[in-house]
Amino acid sequence: MELLSAVVPCFNEEENVPYFYEEFMKNKPFFEEHGIDYELIYIDDGSSDGTLAAIRALSARDPKVKAVSFSRNFGKEAAMYAGMKEARGDYVAIMDADLQDPPSLLPEMFRLIREEGYDTVATRRTTRTGEPPVRSWFAHRFYHLINRWSQTEIVDGARDFRLMKRIVVNAILSLSEYNRFSKGIFSWVGFRTKWLEYENIERKHGKTKWSFWKLFSYALDGIAAFSTVPLRIATVIGGIFTVTSFIMILVTIVRKLAFGDPTSGWPSLVCIIFLVAGVQMLCTGAVGQYLEKTYLEVKNRPLYIVREKIGGGAEQDSHAKEE
Ligand code: UDP
Ligand code: MG
Repeated sequence: MELLSAVVPCFNEEENVPYFYEEFMKNKPFFEEHGIDYELIYIDDGSSDGTLAAIRALSARDPKVKAVSFSRNFGKEAAMYAGMKEARGDYVAIMDADLQDPPSLLPEMFRLIREEGYDTVATRRTTRTGEPPVRSWFAHRFYHLINRWSQTEIVDGARDFRLMKRIVVNAILSLSEYNRFSKGIFSWVGFRTKWLEYENIERKHGKTKWSFWKLFSYALDGIAAFSTVPLRIATVIGGIFTVTSFIMILVTIVRKLAFGDPTSGWPSLVCIIFLVAGVQMLCTGAVGQYLEKTYLEVKNRPLYIVREKIGGGAEQDSHAKEE
């Protein structure tokens, strides 16, 4: 028997928790037929609704349901990391609780890994139905930009839904950075990856946890995590400005000596000062972004703190700090 660990990050998903379980269990005949044992690891990312109670109820019914509950909301990235750390499986699948990642794809994913020799099967959605158009537009711009600026390929529309072999999971866990941008990390570790495509499925219950600004700042994090081009841009702009100003100084001196031109053009001077100051602030800001990331990284705080673990014989409160 090989073991599959399904990791399900949940933040206020009380309606979706049992629903997900049902959908997942539709694969049971397939699992039995192919000698696959399963464990379901729900990560309660500091939910304030009945998510934990719903998980507890499931776990009482099915001992293969486990959970890690965080002391507060640490974000999906931390939840995925915690789940992968907790997983004991030969295979790990990461799936959203809202059923936007259909568990019905699992058999096909298993086939690709077991029969066609892939190490990981990833998914991407080809449409963005149900998403505000402005958001889609920014998303496309983001993918365009980051792929020009980063060595690591970030696939447009890629979801976090994937099935991975143990070797891939271990590789991902070895990247214990604080500023996690999984779309980049998955791609950075490499391995033979098969992409499955499907049309966007809207979430079953509840609302998306991502506001526009949350996504925007996540995009900036992604750029800072996987590209240093913004820093180089600052250098290049600085270089251009310096060279230009030298030429301008020379021209002004020569003109003064040759023609005795009185200096004029106060308004244009103000414009130039504004421009230079603006560019300087922008570049300082870019440097600041990296400094901030470095600062957070250097502090070396844990990615999450566990309040409680459920199932798997770990029925105790653990206030211990975890990585
Ligand atoms: N999620 C989480 N912590 C958060 C935000 C989201 O664990 O801080 C979970 C959420 O419960 C869901 C998954 O991550 O299972 C994806 O979130 P959501 O559906 O809101 O994102 P979207 O699908 O709209 O990108
Ligand atoms: Mg969703």
